[in-house]
Amino acid sequence: MAKAAQADTLGDWLGSHPTLNRFDLEIALCQVLDCSRAFLLSHPERQLTANELEQLHRWSQQLYNHVPLAYLCGEQEFWGLTLKVDERVLVPRPDTETLVEQALVRLEQMAPQASLARLASRRALSVLDLGTGSGAIALAIASERADADVHACDLSPDSLAVAEANSRKLKLAVTFHHSDWFNNIQQRYDLIVANPPYIDPLDPHLATLGAEPRMALVSRDRGLWDLGHIAAQGESYLHPGGYLLLEHGFDQGPAVRDLLVNNGFEGVSSCRDLGGNERVTWGQKKDRAESNHE
Ligand code: GLN
Repeated sequence: MAKAAQADTLGDWLGSHPTLNRFDLEIALCQVLDCSRAFLLSHPERQLTANELEQLHRWSQQLYNHVPLAYLCGEQEFWGLTLKVDERVLVPRPDTETLVEQALVRLEQMAPQASLARLASRRALSVLDLGTGSGAIALAIASERADADVHACDLSPDSLAVAEANSRKLKLAVTFHHSDWFNNIQQRYDLIVANPPYIDPLDPHLATLGAEPRMALVSRDRGLWDLGHIAAQGESYLHPGGYLLLEHGFDQGPAVRDLLVNNGFEGVSSCRDLGGNERVTWGQKKDRAESNHE
């Protein structure tokens, strides 16, 4: 494992960690040497100083311990936004961009056929990101829909601090709430999105995710407890005709569709992520006359 100390060119160092992800190693080098990836490819003979080697050694040890590269760099790209991330929040995954994409499609569909009540009150389309973590989903939506009223909540004050810092840094307005799922949510929304914890506590894959907050990853009932809770409560927090969109595990599509259908949602459907796995499932609340629960 501790081979970095023997490598003295950057090419040697890259070759000395064959079991680590090559991209992670290249980004580690770019950060430590403050250079581009193009430079790495064109200057494999560049000598590493003792200081650089020591720093690279520390980074590689962390990578062997499954610390995500994003924590080492302190940031992660998501939906073209550079988000600050650290051990307080789950690292936003590319798969979650599928959830953002689907949320934007639903908002686009809802905008022209606005409900009469919303048109009469000139109310903006409202969105809630449940369990926002770093704020990734809420901020991605806010970056695309300046006209929407975007809210986000989380149970963890630590993660809210990260999300609020990202909102300030990116100058994207999101209203944050400290809430255990819907417990402290006081209004209805046109669209609710969530990437809740959905990994089975017995999933062996968890061994490689130990650096990230367990509460953002693991859910009882084979990973389905939080998805079920949100599906059961979501309807009361949606305007008629509003949508609930849920990210879930690659094999949970049928179970999540059942959860939404059994809780009265209509038009229940799923779509796949870039890896071809069912990843996002949504349903629409029945569009009957609006009640007074504004
Ligand atoms: N998609 C993440 C993973 O499998 C899990 C995220 C979650 O539980 N919401 O690594």
